[in-house]
Amino acid sequence: MNNAQHLGRGFQALWVLLVTLSPLTAAEVPPEKQSVLDWLSQPQTLEKFGRISDAVWSYAELGLQEQKSSALLIKTVEEAGFTVEKGLAGMPTCFVASYGSGKPVVGILVEYDALAMLSQKGRHPKQAPVVDGAPGHGCGHNMMASAATAAAIAVKQAMEKHQLAGTIKLFGSPAEEILVSRPYMIRAGLFKDVDVVINNHSGSGFSTAYGVAGNAMFSVVFTFRGKTAHSGSAPWGGRSALDAVEIMNVATNYLREHLHFTYRMHYVITEGGEAPNVVPDRARVWYFLRNSDDKIEEMYARVVNCAKGAALATETELAEVRVLAAAHQSHHNKALAELMMKNIELVGMPAWSEEDHQFARALQKELGKEEKGMPTKVGTLGKPAVVFTGGASSDHGDVTLVAPTATIAFPGIVSGALGHHWSTVASGFGPGAWKGVNAGAKAMSATAIDLLTRPDTRQAIRQEFEEYSKTHPYKSFLPADAQPPLDFYEKLMQQYRPAMEAFYVE
Ligand SMILES: [Zn+2]
Repeated sequence: MNNAQHLGRGFQALWVLLVTLSPLTAAEVPPEKQSVLDWLSQPQTLEKFGRISDAVWSYAELGLQEQKSSALLIKTVEEAGFTVEKGLAGMPTCFVASYGSGKPVVGILVEYDALAMLSQKGRHPKQAPVVDGAPGHGCGHNMMASAATAAAIAVKQAMEKHQLAGTIKLFGSPAEEILVSRPYMIRAGLFKDVDVVINNHSGSGFSTAYGVAGNAMFSVVFTFRGKTAHSGSAPWGGRSALDAVEIMNVATNYLREHLHFTYRMHYVITEGGEAPNVVPDRARVWYFLRNSDDKIEEMYARVVNCAKGAALATETELAEVRVLAAAHQSHHNKALAELMMKNIELVGMPAWSEEDHQFARALQKELGKEEKGMPTKVGTLGKPAVVFTGGASSDHGDVTLVAPTATIAFPGIVSGALGHHWSTVASGFGPGAWKGVNAGAKAMSATAIDLLTRPDTRQAIRQEFEEYSKTHPYKSFLPADAQPPLDFYEKLMQQYRPAMEAFYVE
């Protein structure tokens, strides 16, 4: 047990003092970087951004419905002196906040959308929804919302104080959970002058990685149309759109055997008729198709064939194939990741309180995981997998192909908590999460300061990127006529928002 763990409750001021003094006053830290670290180490800064994280957590807004979350972040950066462009790339909750002028332009990505069905009480180690069935922050995007915003503001203040040249931009990116915003933001030209991009994700460890990671993904809704009929007296007069969905799903499940093992494929039936006594004339199935960049388009074409075959077999019509999102794998820049890792080591793992460890152990016990509490050491620089086996996806993948990008994974979520699960929602709230947000903001802002003040480092990062781009030129997977699905989560959010409002933390 380390010193900080002994402090416990009621010694917050001493804890903040320790954080302020330990490794951040090291002689080699340049004054510009010391400025961002000092500001973020102030207890009022930690609390302010902790509360923003908790507020976004309580709004738990689904993709493209993040009105309150984006408004809070915009208000925060505007008050700090940023210029904000709003409603960009056809998305009302998309924004870009800028400070400074000219080159270099350093970007920070910020996400703030939640996941359906994951409502859960904060810091509660057993499953207990706040509002049954409502959305929840099961991927920690509330923490990322606040950490990235705090980082951008810290950098702006240091730029002002030390008269640093260049621009800091915060890219407000909606609907990451359904991989929507970044391909559209790139298509709208929002990243065209950006030199380097800092991405971030909350988790249980504190580290970064380089190389190719995650799967590319197509998010597609297939709509079939048939004919209604009385299911009892004259079913032969009808043509069931639900039958088409079911046959399509049987076909894609047989297809699995013949897909390269890096694939992932999952679906939900979003419309399948209203009553058994009316043959459904409309049915919909929503697919996530994932594979590597070089295999995803072919996989998509084969799944479309399954849909066409299902329509033929059922004498229904494949009325619409709507691509909601299409995103690349992540291609993380090595030189940037190495720079991030140095800053992560400089910042160090937060000094968790005994209460943080207790909550972590209680949650770990509930999940049947090793009861080891919160982590005490930062991680190491992650390398690309020797054999890529596929995985999850993020639409920041497209950004990695238009500007050198890497991701700082910062702590706060209990290790052992599961992604897209109530245990992550429970972890991402309250003082333990605040410390993670603060550590993430420090690592991001310290990296941004290096990028603004060290032309050689920037040059090395850019050079690696230019070289890589020769063999990996960017081409969007989005069909030319694709539009952000603004309506997609509208009804679901409307259904839950009134009940959730009573529990907003503001
Ligand atoms: Zn996420």
